[in-house]
Amino acid sequence: MSSNPPPADLTDPSVLKEALDVSGVGVWTWDLATDAVTWSDQSYRIHGMAPGQFALTGTAFFQLVHPADREHMEATVRSALARNALYECEFRILRPGGEVVWVEGRGRGRYAEDGRLLAMIGTIADISAPKRTEQAMQAALEASAAGTFHWDMRSDSLRWDAALDRLFGLRPGEVVQSLAQFVALVHPDDRAGVIARCERCRTEGAAFEMEFRVVRPDGSLRWLYDRGRTFSDSQGRPVTMTGACVDITHRKGTELALRRSETFYRQALESLPGLTFTCGADGAVDYLSEQWQEFTGVPSERLMGDRWPLVLHPDDRAASLAGWQQAVAEGTFYDIEYRIRRHDGEYRWFQARGTPIRDTDGRIASWLGMAVDVHALKETQAALQAAGDRLVRAQRAGGIGVWELDEGTGLAVWSEEVAKLLGVATEKLEAIPTEVWGNALHPDDVPQIEAGLAAAWESGRFHEVYRVVHPDGAMLWLEAEAQVVPVSAGPGRRLAGTIRDVTERQAAEEALRSAARMKDEFLATLAHELRNPLAPLRTGLEILRRGKPGSAPVEQARAMMERQLGHMVRLVDDLLDISRISRGHIEIRHDPVEVGTVVAHAVEGSRQLVESKRHTLELELDTEALWVEGDLTRLAQVVGNLVNNAAKYTAPGGRIRVGSRRRGEQVEIYVADNGSGIDAAVQPRVFDLFMQVEGTRRHSQGGLGVGLALVRRLVELHGGSVTVQSAGIGHGSTFFVTLPQAAAFPRAAIAPAAAADAQAQVAGRRVLVVDDNVDAAETLETMLALAGHATRTAHDGHAAIEVARDFLPDVVFLDIGLPGISGLDVARRFRGDPALAGAFLVALTGWGTEDDKRMCLESGFDLHLTKPVDIAAVERALAGWTGFSVADADRPEEREPAPAAGVVRPLPR
Ligand code: ADP
Repeated sequence: MSSNPPPADLTDPSVLKEALDVSGVGVWTWDLATDAVTWSDQSYRIHGMAPGQFALTGTAFFQLVHPADREHMEATVRSALARNALYECEFRILRPGGEVVWVEGRGRGRYAEDGRLLAMIGTIADISAPKRTEQAMQAALEASAAGTFHWDMRSDSLRWDAALDRLFGLRPGEVVQSLAQFVALVHPDDRAGVIARCERCRTEGAAFEMEFRVVRPDGSLRWLYDRGRTFSDSQGRPVTMTGACVDITHRKGTELALRRSETFYRQALESLPGLTFTCGADGAVDYLSEQWQEFTGVPSERLMGDRWPLVLHPDDRAASLAGWQQAVAEGTFYDIEYRIRRHDGEYRWFQARGTPIRDTDGRIASWLGMAVDVHALKETQAALQAAGDRLVRAQRAGGIGVWELDEGTGLAVWSEEVAKLLGVATEKLEAIPTEVWGNALHPDDVPQIEAGLAAAWESGRFHEVYRVVHPDGAMLWLEAEAQVVPVSAGPGRRLAGTIRDVTERQAAEEALRSAARMKDEFLATLAHELRNPLAPLRTGLEILRRGKPGSAPVEQARAMMERQLGHMVRLVDDLLDISRISRGHIEIRHDPVEVGTVVAHAVEGSRQLVESKRHTLELELDTEALWVEGDLTRLAQVVGNLVNNAAKYTAPGGRIRVGSRRRGEQVEIYVADNGSGIDAAVQPRVFDLFMQVEGTRRHSQGGLGVGLALVRRLVELHGGSVTVQSAGIGHGSTFFVTLPQAAAFPRAAIAPAAAADAQAQVAGRRVLVVDDNVDAAETLETMLALAGHATRTAHDGHAAIEVARDFLPDVVFLDIGLPGISGLDVARRFRGDPALAGAFLVALTGWGTEDDKRMCLESGFDLHLTKPVDIAAVERALAGWTGFSVADADRPEEREPAPAAGVVRPLPR
């Protein structure tokens, strides 16, 4: 074992002395009874004195204390001694050279058994080095406006510096020396917190760190930040705390303002009527307002960053994201429309906008954006657009133009249709000066429009029908309607309205007016034409009455009367035909007809007129027999009308040529004359009903303007057409009838016509004439008597039957429209009476429709003749010619084969 030196004995005074020397702490004693003082070496060193230099009395010592600290130091010492407490004090001493040294003195009293104070023992330490540091600190603290404090928890003595006094706003003289005094200055709301914290420091040795408010004695409020450190004794019990405090009122204010403004903006964002968002500089979403979640039902955190397109319509995602990325890359404003899916699954249109927020350097720091629901707006817009489109389409379809005219500026706004209707080309559709449309007006209508506009500003309404002339010379009738309306923004008025093309309507109205005019003229002409023959007829009768039968004057009169009557009959026939065709009541036959026959019949019918005017008539028929399919009678009527006209409208001694020829698949029949000719302007209209060329009417050629209309309709019924050519007034006219050619028929195929002169006169029949028109009955009776028949008359149905029972007639001419019982009933009774049933019954009637004829047949008639009856027809009936049917009785010239048996019964012999 090694022999270790024995451990230092702490009870050994030399050891203690050495330790004290090492520590640099001076030791002193002070006998209070004698005032004698002892100093250790170290004490001398601290005071900068050599032994002998110091008087070694308490009084001398106190003289060494810096005058500024002396009183406080002495008081501290005496107070400690009085309380038998530790004396502890920092103070300055003055060295003999005048140097000031900070020292810390500590000491404790020594007492006798009886408690009498004997002496005091203590230490003195040079603390100038730490003190310098502390002073530097102090200066720093003062510069930082920080205050410091030291709190002795055991004695609850609080000391703080002048800076803290200032922070607390204490007036000179006011001091804070305990925790309670400090707490009293704390804002009531923060007090509890401060107390609790101090309590923790005291009990747990915790550090103090707090922000709290103090109320200064002047009532003002300051925010302080306080930080302290707890120091514990050797047993770990917290004993003191040292700390500093700064005024943070300004920072607090800024903080508060910042918080307030942040809250304000956040609340503002949340309360906006859209879905707001913010993004970082990189465009990644870092904030979505509550409305996002509310609207989409998707938690906002799932849409952060670049995940927001998740709630967009799939069709909108790519474009929206690309647009956003582009805006972020270029730092430009973002504006796009997309659909966002609502929590219920419905997509609604939003308009999203994002704008970059730049920092002071101009760099983009973040983005602020908002998506606003524009669904309803879009729908309304779409609906409006659709409605607008419909209106425009309707206007286009209807050719309706829309316009507005400003009263103040005189400028117009219009739609494309207006420009089209007016026939003007304008670059713009607005601010159109008056001349533009004014020049389009027909000069004659300018005054009307000017007056109309002037009146419109008065009455509020504008309605005019007027003409415009297009650059190509076309003339249009336009109808403009407008209303005076206030200008939507600002003062002033406008005329707003439409125009449309009424040219067709205008033409139709004109046609109606002209038709009405023609009808009036026609009625006048008709009256004239019907009255004309009456005078010569009357004169003729007079001649017949006075003249000798068979004498030349009587014969001439008779011929004249026949002509006049024939003329009247033709007029009435034409009229009836026209009305039948108009009502669709005419039927034409579809027989093979040879054109030569047609012409022959026509010429025959017109011979009298042609001869009376001493015209020469030349036939220029094709050598080949030309066939058409149709109705011989009607075709003869067509050509006859044309020949009649040629005779009428050619001065006596004229030349008329009637011809036929083949034209490809067609057959052409022409009638040419060298008469008055027809002006080119009226040629297209001569085939219109009631159309008579102005001037010719007055020459009283005898006509109603019906003939050519009838010609055209009949030709058309045959699938053909009719045209006229004339080199003009005085140059003659040629009418061409073109008909489809039919395949040639051998003549043998046509039923042989009964010889025209087979109508041998048959005398000696017993004939009863029944007509309530006594004259009509008697003239016919006379004629029959002259022809050698036995005749009777009756004037009503009953009389007819009575007479017939007595007379037993072979043939009865029976009027249908009889008083009492009708002709139809009379016929039935005849057929029902065995004595009379065999009579040949001939209906005489003004009713000539197919229906009338059918009714006659059904009632028992054998024949139907339309009044006025052609005497030849009567004669044929009496001759018992059965070559024509009931239906064809009026058209004996057809000589068609007899219809089915039973329809016509042979005459009784
Ligand atoms: P109208 O009864 O007047 O003869 P139409 O229909 O037969 O009626 O003829 C119509 C008009 O056509 C006549 O009024 C006449 O002015 C003109 N017209 C017809 N045929 C001829 C012709 N051959 N030469 C000259 N004018 C004619």
